[in-house]
Order: sequence, then structure tokens, then C-alpha cells
Amino acid sequence: MRGEEPALVEALRVRALPEGSCDRLLEFLKLYRDVVQMVVDRVWSINDKLSKGKLHKLFYNNLVSMGFRAHHAKEVYVYAESLVESARSNGGRKPVLRKLSARIDRYDYKLDLDNMVLTLKLHNSYEARLKLVSPKERVEKFRGWGNYELVMKYDGSGFWVSIYFRRAIKPKPLKPRTVMAIDLNFDNITIATLTSNGRLVKLKRFKTPHRKVLTHRIWIERVQRRYPRSWRFIKGVKKAIDRHGERIRNITWDYAHKVGDLVAELASKHSSVIVLEDLENLRESNKKNKEFNKRLGLWFYRRIQFCIEYEAGERNIGVVKINPRGTSSKCPRCGGKLAENKHRILRCRKCGFNGDRDVIATLNLYKKYVSKYSRCGVSGVAPNAPKPYESPSGVQGNRDEAMTSSYTNLYKS
Ligand SMILES: [Zn+2]
Repeated sequence: MRGEEPALVEALRVRALPEGSCDRLLEFLKLYRDVVQMVVDRVWSINDKLSKGKLHKLFYNNLVSMGFRAHHAKEVYVYAESLVESARSNGGRKPVLRKLSARIDRYDYKLDLDNMVLTLKLHNSYEARLKLVSPKERVEKFRGWGNYELVMKYDGSGFWVSIYFRRAIKPKPLKPRTVMAIDLNFDNITIATLTSNGRLVKLKRFKTPHRKVLTHRIWIERVQRRYPRSWRFIKGVKKAIDRHGERIRNITWDYAHKVGDLVAELASKHSSVIVLEDLENLRESNKKNKEFNKRLGLWFYRRIQFCIEYEAGERNIGVVKINPRGTSSKCPRCGGKLAENKHRILRCRKCGFNGDRDVIATLNLYKKYVSKYSRCGVSGVAPNAPKPYESPSGVQGNRDEAMTSSYTNLYKS
């Protein structure tokens, strides 16, 4: 473990299920506890602070001859010494270990986060394989962190593992120069990057794999309807359903990772703050209810947002979530009500503004962001950026006009 640089340390605590017999693992934990006690007894009797070198000299060979690996031995005497040290500084008695727990160095285990499998190297070259029980989302966060030590515990009924992760802390996010508003919907992701005075720098659109995911989902549901009670128990059917489920998981995670990476790269290039829809508020939004909740649920959108936020965090890019209410029904120029003109093209009845539905949503998100954050200077967006829905005849009418005119040339108006 390197010191020096400031780092963030977090533990992933999960249940671990041994694959096969757990005899060797239990044997290891008992042996481990007993040797820690043995070292504690000895260090206690010496009654003097011991250096790492001295500890190594006193215990290393002995521990290795008992079947422990080199790093096991080191963990044992360092841990024992720290127990004695803290007992002494508290004026306490000699520590007595009862619980079964072992600290294991990162050289003595293998962590496979993709398959959620942990392989521990035990005494006498034994190995134990354990399945980690945790939702994938909880683990995803630690991708890209460095794992170093873990603590394995047995509480009488089962095994628990705490895996420690660390990552270097980066300096504070840079002040953004542009705003990147992102609209997620069934078919597309639309990304609009605008400057603080409303000039459109970049507009990008990606297709989503939703229809592909939906095909797998429909297949699963059809089979489940055909065997409403028994699909879980018919081996072939269960297997086929699992296979389609796995496809859905792969497609969606792949896509979310790619989009997260791409968005963060783009935001980094344009020094943007990223503005996302706050999905917590989506239930109130009528337009999206049909698409989001009925057909696929919000989980896929959350997954995409999660990856965007993660990748942005890695690059010190700020992410803000804005309530999307009204972003697809109000005119970004005058705030009037929009009506569908042609397929996916909306038109304002009041001012005649005309535009693509998804792009309008990003423009409204942008405006909402600017009105919410520009005044307190959090975002670095110019304080005189236009307020949303301000009438062109208002005090800031000219700026508002300037803003709209810079994006209206994207569409026929
Ligand atoms: Zn309008």
C-alpha cells in the first residue's frame, strides 16, 4: 500500500458462500486466530515496542513452517503487534481472541468482480473459492479502484468478507466552461453542449439498444406465460431464460459503460458540467411514464446515469441532476405549450418555435440548470445567462433572443 498521496478508502462488506466444503477455510480461520494469539502472548511478554524487522525475525520462520504463506505471516505479526499496542495505550489487559477472523493481504487472494468470485489462498497451499452475494450495482462502483486487504469472518452461521478498496483523491473539479445537457429516452440519447450564453457547441445523438433488449424481454415473458408455474423447474426452459437474461445484462452494461466513457470524454474536452434528468422526479412526468415505466422500467436509465456519473467522477467533471418536469412539453424560447407537428417534431403555438422533441428536452434541461445555478455561481456559468421562459420583451430579452437564435438555426422555424 502506497502512502503519501491522499486516498479514499472504502470497504465492500458482503456475504460469501463457499463453493464446496468449507472445512479448509474454517481450519484456516481457527489456525489463524490461534497463531495471532500466540504472537500476542509473546509480544505482550516482551513488554517493549518491536520494530517490523524484529517481529519478522522473531516470528516469520516459525509461521511459515506451520504452513502459512509469506504474506499471511506478515499480516499475522503486524496485526498481533497492533492489538498489543492499542491494548497497552488504553491501559487494558492482554488481548484474547475469540472470534474467527483473518486479515488477508492482496497477494493472497484473487478477486473476480465480473463473476463475483473470491479465491483465497490458505495454509499448506489450500485454496477456497467463495461466491460473493451482492447486487452487481454495489460492486460496480469499485471498478478502477485498487483493492488491497480483506478481512474474512465467520460468525457461526456464515462467512462475511470486507474487501478494502482505495483510490487516490483528485483535486477539486475544474470550473466548467460549458453545459452538457443529456436527454435519455427509449430510442435515443441526445447530448447538447452549450456555452453559458446559449451558443450550441455540439449536438450528438446515439441510438439506444432498447429494442434489442425488449426483444429478449418479450421472449422471456412469452415463455414465462406459457409455463406460468413450472418454468423455474424445467431445466431447459430455465436455462434458456437465464441465457436471455444474461444477454440483457451484457447488452445494457456494455452500452452503459460505453456511453459513460464517451460522455465523460466529451465533457472533458469541452470542460462541461454534465446535466442529467433527475430520475426520481420522472414518475410525475406524464410523457415519459408510458415509455419508461411500462415498457422497460427505469433500471436501464439508472444504469446509464450511474456509468456517466462514475466516469465523470474519474475525470473531475461535475454532474448535476435536474427535475425533468415540463422539459418535453414547454417551448424553450417562450415557455408556451408545445404540440406535435410532425413525427417527433414539436411546435410552439405561441411563438412558432419548431424543433426536434429530444433536442428541445436538452435545451429545456439546459435552461433549467442555468436558472437554478447561475445566480449562486456554483456552476461557473455567467450570472447574466437567460432565465427560462422569460418573455423576449423582458429586461433580459435581448440575451434571451441571442440564446434562442443560436439554436433555432438547427431546425426550420
Ligand atoms: Zn414558444
